[in-house]
Amino acid sequence: MENCLFCKIINREIPATIIFENDNVLAFEDIEPQAPIHLLIIPKKHIATINDIEPSDKKICGDMLLAAKEIASIMNVDSRGYRTIFNTNEDAGQTVFHIHMHFLAGRKMKWPPG
Ligand code: AMP
Ligand code: ZN
Repeated sequence: MENCLFCKIINREIPATIIFENDNVLAFEDIEPQAPIHLLIIPKKHIATINDIEPSDKKICGDMLLAAKEIASIMNVDSRGYRTIFNTNEDAGQTVFHIHMHFLAGRKMKWPPG
């Protein structure tokens, strides 16, 4: 996707601090961290929102969750805990329309979220 910020990060046209990568998934540091660890886990395939996921994207979606698990272990927050969030469209405050799982860790989280 030509004008997608996260596709540009995937293609190394925009710099990012990349933490994890495999065939389907990339993870990098959020530019405005909301916790000591704040990463974004994205599929390499451009999908705008959760509403746009197709049944054929099942493997990619599973790989995003498995990446979260692996990152949690690498960062040693797996037992202490971490939060994973997808924002979809306006009410949830989605600002980048390439799906991304926020991965937040390193502090106690509040519930309910704002
Ligand atoms: P959302 O509001 O759920 O769509 O999340 C988009 C996230 O992307 C926000 O947390 C931003 O801080 C983050 N973000 C925007 N631009 C960049 C960038 N160039 N590199 C890393 N993270 C970014
Ligand atoms: Zn994209």
